[in-house]
Amino acid sequence: MSILITGGAGYIGSHTLVELANANYDFIVYDNLSNSSSESLNRVEKIIGKSITFINGDIRDTAKLKEVFGNHSIDSVIHFAGLKAVGQSVEQPLEYYDNNVVGTLRLLEVMSEFGCKKIVFSSSATVYTDPDKLNIQHSKLNIKEYSPLREDSPVGGTTNPYGTSKYMIERILEDLYISDNSFKIAILRYFNPVGAHKSGTIGEDPNGIPNNLMPFISQVAVGKREYLSVFGSDYDTHDGTGVRDYIHVVDLAYGHVKAIDYLNNHENIKPLVVNLGTGTGYSVIDVVKAFEKASGKKVPYKLVDRRAGDIAKCFADPSYAKELLGWVAKRSLDEMCEDSWRWQSNNPDGYEVK
Ligand code: NAD
Ligand code: UDP
Repeated sequence: MSILITGGAGYIGSHTLVELANANYDFIVYDNLSNSSSESLNRVEKIIGKSITFINGDIRDTAKLKEVFGNHSIDSVIHFAGLKAVGQSVEQPLEYYDNNVVGTLRLLEVMSEFGCKKIVFSSSATVYTDPDKLNIQHSKLNIKEYSPLREDSPVGGTTNPYGTSKYMIERILEDLYISDNSFKIAILRYFNPVGAHKSGTIGEDPNGIPNNLMPFISQVAVGKREYLSVFGSDYDTHDGTGVRDYIHVVDLAYGHVKAIDYLNNHENIKPLVVNLGTGTGYSVIDVVKAFEKASGKKVPYKLVDRRAGDIAKCFADPSYAKELLGWVAKRSLDEMCEDSWRWQSNNPDGYEVK
C-alpha cells in the first residue's frame, strides 16, 4: 500500500518524503510542477537511496487521478498540492479557489470512488481569525491575547483568498466526515516552516522575489539582494518587529509521519485538527541575528512601514500535537538558520540545473 503525496515535489512535500522513507512508508508523488522542479525528487532519491514513482498531474484532472488510483494501491493521501502566495491570491482569487478548493474537491471525489478514506491536509495558522476582526466578531469571548493559538481559537475570519481557501477546505473535510464517518482526516495547521534538510541538497526554492522572511534573508546573505526590508518596527513586541513561530521543516515533515501513524492506528476517529509549531515566537530582528551568526554573513536591513495585513504576533500552543501525536518540534532557531544557509549557499539558484 502506498500514500499518494500531492504536491510532493514542493518544499514541505520533498522533506516529508525523506521522513516517510525513514519510517518505511511507500509513496507515490503527484505534482503538476507549477511551483516546483522535478530536480527536488532527484535529490530526495539520493538522500533516501531509492527511486521515486512520480506522476506529473494536476489535482483538478479527474481522469488522471482515476488512472493513478486505478493503477496503484493507494490507501491514504497527504495533500500538499496548492497555491500558497498570499499577495498573488488577492490578485487572482479565482485561480486560488479553483486550484486549492476545486482541486481538493476533485481529489476527494476520486478518493471516495476508490474507497481511499485517509487524508492528511496541509492547513495553515492563517485560518485563525485575524485579531483585528476578533474584537468585532468575538467580543463576547473575552479573548485577551491572540497568541498562543489553540486549535479551538476562533477561525474563519481570514484576510485573503489563500487563507479563505484553506478554511473552506477544512470545512469541506469536516462535512465530508459528517456524511461518511469512515473517513479518517488529519488537518495540520502549520506555523512558519523554514530551514532545510541537513544534506543541504533540498530546500525552499521560491520563484522571483521571496515573500517570506527566511528565503529573503538567505538571498541577502548570499549576495543576491542588497538588504532586507523589515516590515514594521512599532509593533507591540519585544523589539517592535513582527513575531512568528518558525518551525524547522524537518520537524514539520515528521509531524506528517506521526499524523499518518495515528490515522493508521486508530478507528472511528473524528477529524483531527492539530497545530504544528514550536510554541516560541521570534521577531524579525531575532531571526536576522540568528542568521548572521549561522552564516557568518552580514544581513543589512532597513526598517520600513508595516506590510498590509500583517499582525504583531502569531505563535502556536503546540501542546495538543504532543498529547495526541506524541510530536514535539525539536530543532532550534539556530539550527533552522544553519540549515537554511547550507541549502542557500550550496544552491544559490535553487534547483536551477545549469
Ligand atoms: P510548494 O509550492 O513548495 O509546494 C506545493 C506543491 O504543489 C508544488 O510542488 C506545486 O507544483 C504543487 N501544486 C500546486 N498546485 C497543484 C495542482 N493543482 N496539482 C498538482 N500539484 C500542484 O509549497 P509548500 O511550502 O511546500 O506548501 C505545501 C502546502 O503547505 C501547501 O498547501 C501550502 O499552502 C501549505 N502551507 C505552507 C506554508 C508555508 O509557509 N510554506 C504554511 C502553511 C501551509
Ligand atoms: N517580513 C519582513 N520582511 C520581509 C518578509 C517578511 O519584515 O521581506 C516579516 C513579516 O512582516 C512578518 C515576518 O517577517 O512579521 C514573517 O513573515 P512571512 O511572510 O515569512 O510569514 P507570515 O507573515 O505569513 O507569517
